[in-house]
Amino acid sequence: MTTLSREETEALIAEVLEVYPEKAKKDRAKHLAANDTSIEQSKKCITSNRKSLPGVMTIRGCAYAGSKGVVWGPIKDMIHISHGPVGCGQYSRAGRRNYYVGTTGIDTFGTMNFTSDFQEKDIVFGGDKKLTKLIEEVEQLFPLHNGISVQSECPIGLIGDDIESVSKKSSVVIGKPVIPVRCEGFRGVSQSLGHHIANDAIRDWVLDKRDGQAFESTPYDVAIIGDYNIGGDAWATRILLEEMGLRVVAQWSGDGTLAEMMNTPKVKLNLLHCYRSMNYISRHMEEKYGIPYMEYNFFGPTKIIESLRKIAGFFDDSVKEKTEAMIARYQPMMDAIIAKYKPRLQGKKVMLYVGGLRPRHVIGAYEDLGMEVIGTGYEFAHNDDYDRTIKEMGDATLLYDDVTGFELEEFVKRLKPDMVGSGIKEKYIFQKMGIPLRQMHSWDYSGPYHGYDGFAIFARDMDIALSNPTFKNLTPPWKKVDAEEVKKAA
Ligand code: SF4
Repeated sequence: MTTLSREETEALIAEVLEVYPEKAKKDRAKHLAANDTSIEQSKKCITSNRKSLPGVMTIRGCAYAGSKGVVWGPIKDMIHISHGPVGCGQYSRAGRRNYYVGTTGIDTFGTMNFTSDFQEKDIVFGGDKKLTKLIEEVEQLFPLHNGISVQSECPIGLIGDDIESVSKKSSVVIGKPVIPVRCEGFRGVSQSLGHHIANDAIRDWVLDKRDGQAFESTPYDVAIIGDYNIGGDAWATRILLEEMGLRVVAQWSGDGTLAEMMNTPKVKLNLLHCYRSMNYISRHMEEKYGIPYMEYNFFGPTKIIESLRKIAGFFDDSVKEKTEAMIARYQPMMDAIIAKYKPRLQGKKVMLYVGGLRPRHVIGAYEDLGMEVIGTGYEFAHNDDYDRTIKEMGDATLLYDDVTGFELEEFVKRLKPDMVGSGIKEKYIFQKMGIPLRQMHSWDYSGPYHGYDGFAIFARDMDIALSNPTFKNLTPPWKKVDAEEVKKAA
């Protein structure tokens, strides 16, 4: 399928929306657009961060998922209690592949599930006593943890439990931070509000606690903000920052610790990868502590080099020199990867549908391999994310916000990309349609994809998916049935 004109993209949107009743059609039309690279503000072309339409199949998560699953969960030396019924914690356990170093169950707890396992009596009589007892048990069984967060599931807000009071009292008893997080799943329109609530809890219950304490600074102290170390992403990032001569004081939050977070207000620069999930705390640290933050993109050599130079520009000449030397040292490796994979991937078209950052951040990495992103969209972006996206995508390419299962399938059927980059909920649908899919939330059990090391793996994985002969030979089950029925009828 060749690139569409604006009129063709708009006609495609109108055609897909045709199936909806008038009200739904009007609502969904605001979330679908042909990209317009001439505008500065995306609100002129697309609406985002609105409640999903009842009756359509949204792919979004909840506020609890945004707080526990994304922001708090990877802080490895804390125990994160999924407070409420067992399911929310169990089904979200370890799914994001936030790698960490440590001994699980002794000094790190990332892949474990701690839950208050609410029963009917807890809903009727309240769960505060149960939470107090659970915190005591956690302290007895896992004495080397450095703090606890209480991640509220839906019922906690509905029955009005006072988790703040329990947390304060328990914190005194165990002598460690106990942090209540009001991230009940029903809050907001998606996991996005969970990120915000989680950031606010860190602001109110973590950062202040270290104010005034001694810290040995260097002029090169930075923090990595919004890297969850999926498949080792933050490690691949840290290697580069350290080679530039910077000292990474904290990783937020992949493979990170409570002490690292507490020390972050002492750094010279916050480096922000996932803008959507951690812009709130970055802005707070800028306002309260005067620490500037800088957005960067470590996907694919073009964006990596651009970002390295931007970061180095903040520091003195010694960092700039080391950065240039590092870029030169890695260039042959990047050239070799591109020489190997670009001839195989050149001209292949991709459609993306991911969370709040990757739908724009990975575009450059695909382009480095000669591939083209012909459609992109976010589960939980706000308009400041689309402002940043319109410049990355080609003019008149398709943008879709909180796209429904039906719409995404129809767009894919009509645009016929060579590959889809999305999540587990979309994976098997498109694979059964004979289209390769790479999971772009979890890296499909692979990674890292960040940094130079990550690009080598990214390129290999895209090639593995696209060169896999399975998909060309696949007849979707629903087409098979048709063929058999036709045979029988004949
Ligand atoms: S919406 Fe509520 S019940 Fe569902 S997973 Fe989120 S917190 Fe749990």
